[in-house]
Amino acid sequence: MSDTRYLAWPFLADHHRALARELDAWATANIDDAHGSDVDAQCKALVRALGRGGWLRHAIGGTAFGAAADRIDTRAICLIRETLARHSGLADFAFAMQGLGSGAISLDGSPEQKQRYLPRVARGEAISAFALSEPDAGSDVAAMACTARIDGDHAVLDGEKTWISNGGIADFYVVFARSGEAPGARGISAFIVEAGTPGFEIAERIEVIAPHPLARLRFANCRVPLTRRVGKAGEGFKVAMRTLDVFRTSVAAASLGFARRALDEALRRATSRKMFGGVLADFQLTQAKLAQMATTIDSAALLTYRAAWQRDQGQNVTREAAMAKLAATEGAQQVIDAAVQIWGGLGVVSGQPVEKLYREIRALRIYEGATEVQQLIIARELLKDARA
Ligand SMILES: Cc1cc2nc3c(=O)[nH]c(=O)nc-3n(C[C@H](O)[C@H](O)[C@H](O)COP(=O)(O)OP(=O)(O)OC[C@H]3O[C@@H](n4cnc5c(N)ncnc54)[C@H](O)[C@@H]3O)c2cc1C
Repeated sequence: MSDTRYLAWPFLADHHRALARELDAWATANIDDAHGSDVDAQCKALVRALGRGGWLRHAIGGTAFGAAADRIDTRAICLIRETLARHSGLADFAFAMQGLGSGAISLDGSPEQKQRYLPRVARGEAISAFALSEPDAGSDVAAMACTARIDGDHAVLDGEKTWISNGGIADFYVVFARSGEAPGARGISAFIVEAGTPGFEIAERIEVIAPHPLARLRFANCRVPLTRRVGKAGEGFKVAMRTLDVFRTSVAAASLGFARRALDEALRRATSRKMFGGVLADFQLTQAKLAQMATTIDSAALLTYRAAWQRDQGQNVTREAAMAKLAATEGAQQVIDAAVQIWGGLGVVSGQPVEKLYREIRALRIYEGATEVQQLIIARELLKDARA
């Protein structure tokens, strides 16, 4: 296990410290970080393994439905993502998507919806997905065009969603669509659409630089019973934002895991690579890089666990989660780039750990609110206070 001094920080409780240590031991024994050619099969196998290991109980809320706690424990989710990301990007993805995909149900679902989906998500028997983005509505979510027309006791979905993680392998999708109660963000509702529902299809599988299951979805006259609407009609945007409030901080935690792994790899190489009559780590230019990497990681970790702790205290975390995501994702990119530099030519060879990290980190600066969106959120909060 790499540097674990952060586990002593006051943001965490003893059960969090135990969780991180137990998961690290489990991941060492059970996870191989190789990404083979069949990413779907690997992802399904990881979800099942994480379910059997009991880790997915932390991705959902409600002990009556198989969760580890009644309320989603943000610090537990962050520690799990950080630890898994250090071992394997795909394992982190598999865990995170079980939480993000079912988060709306944990937070706003009816008892029947919770009973139908959450226990299977926690056991790793059902794979979930979160379908918000569209070809013309990414950062500008409220521009969404996918519609949900009410017809008797059904909603009829028409339109497209894209960049949907687990698209193609998920058993159910929480889909956000314009239901028209009011203009803009106040006229959106969330629906659970099960794979195989007539009128729903995978329009295209998308390949990205760090392979994960990803797809564009198409809905054409897709009828969904109103009993599958999550939350109230017209309140889907709030449901989406409440879900993202939990998982945005965890994106910062995953970045930390990638960055810690990069620092470990950089230290390993710098202390063993012979050159100029010594090793790479003997040179002050290398030491400056290592010092900067460690400082960037600790600053981001402090922001991440502050945001997670604050949410677990029931406080608003809009500003803090945005700061954590901004600092951790941008910082991890710099740390990983420095690790590639320290590894020299080997750093860009396909399959080397730092080369995989270099591809793995990139999307985290874009999804769940790009860096610029986080900057705007932080500035908006600052100006709100300044103008009050
Ligand atoms: C690997 C991956 C997985 C994803 N998984 C999911 C998923 O499971 N579910 C889902 O719903 N979506 C998912 N997404 C979509 C993701 O949330 C969007 O890609 C993201 O919101 C950005 O939207 P966009 O790609 O349309 O970029 P655009 O909205 O076109 O933005 C392009 C760029 O513009 C910049 N920008 C944005 N706003 C501003 C501004 N106000 N001022 C200045 N610059 C700005 C940013 O740099 C941004 O990267 C995923 C994306 C990726 C890459």
